[in-house]
Amino acid sequence: MNRYEELKSILDSGRYFKVVCGAGNEDPVEVYKLCIIYTLAGAHGIDLSANEEVVRAGMRGIDRAFELAPELGIELTVRPFINVSVGLKGDPHVRKALIRADDCIACGNCLPVCDQLAIQEGEPYSVITARCIGCGNCADVCPNEAIEFFTRKVDFNDIIPRCLAAGAENVELHAIIPDDEAVMRDWKTIAALVPDQFISMCIDRSELSNKHFTNRMRQAKEVAGDRLMIQADGAPMSGGPDTFRTTLQAVACAELTEKTGIPCKILLSGGTNSKTGELSAMCGLTVHGVSIGTFARNLVREELALDDFDTNLDAIRSSVAKGVKLVQDNLKYIAR
Ligand code: SF4
Ligand code: SF4
Repeated sequence: MNRYEELKSILDSGRYFKVVCGAGNEDPVEVYKLCIIYTLAGAHGIDLSANEEVVRAGMRGIDRAFELAPELGIELTVRPFINVSVGLKGDPHVRKALIRADDCIACGNCLPVCDQLAIQEGEPYSVITARCIGCGNCADVCPNEAIEFFTRKVDFNDIIPRCLAAGAENVELHAIIPDDEAVMRDWKTIAALVPDQFISMCIDRSELSNKHFTNRMRQAKEVAGDRLMIQADGAPMSGGPDTFRTTLQAVACAELTEKTGIPCKILLSGGTNSKTGELSAMCGLTVHGVSIGTFARNLVREELALDDFDTNLDAIRSSVAKGVKLVQDNLKYIAR
């Protein structure tokens, strides 16, 4: 079985769990640790920023997980597929926060709401750009509107081949914008650069009517054919409590995706948590996997903070146990 067939078989059985390190997360140390944890926890996909240094860190994390597995009594059968995320200007996944020094009154409101620990105290406060995933939590609590966002221009023809050479296998286009022409231009580029593997388009309902959503999917299908994955996004990077309510929009978007009748592999994402698989099953959906970011990262935040994490077996065991529970809490409802 080649790698395309291997991934197809995982998707067809509804056993694809993808941990999302963050499309904007360019912190190789955190990515390395997350890849150790979630490879050992049974993830089949790892979503990374399209940055070759980050992909190499992800590969090292997967390698380290395979080294540790026998000692931990874990049998790993599938090497996770690394997916790199790229996006269009305007999509929230690929933006970064910037604090305008002149407007910051150093109130500190933004510090505790940043799950990524991307804000530095000071006068003024500042953002560690490599850690920022663009979630917007900081801007929501800033009393002086001192926080703005920017998106770096990325040349897909340059960065994607470099990420593939570093070990990535799949590419996802974050396309939460209404401009079909711009989306399809980039989608065709990705399809040509990744001719033999699944490619994913991440869309939600915030900018698209149901009809527009269906048309977008139809166009995506024409280009990608059998290789089409749709990441049905709910509330991106939202975090939130571990409840059905938090994950409801992700399930609703997947339901719309399924209702279009356009054949594709459907992933749940955006506000996903330990309840996502269960809610999806309660709604009678047939999905192919689940992608979890903020919730999965926050679950193991304590262990991620340890400098000696990759040799600290107690920390690895405790974090992997949490990861396994999250994977199983979802896949037991999704898997066929
Ligand atoms: S709260 Fe979100 S947008 Fe703001 S700095 Fe942190 S990660 Fe970036
Ligand atoms: S919330 Fe706004 S004003 Fe307060 S520290 Fe953060 S950036 Fe500065």
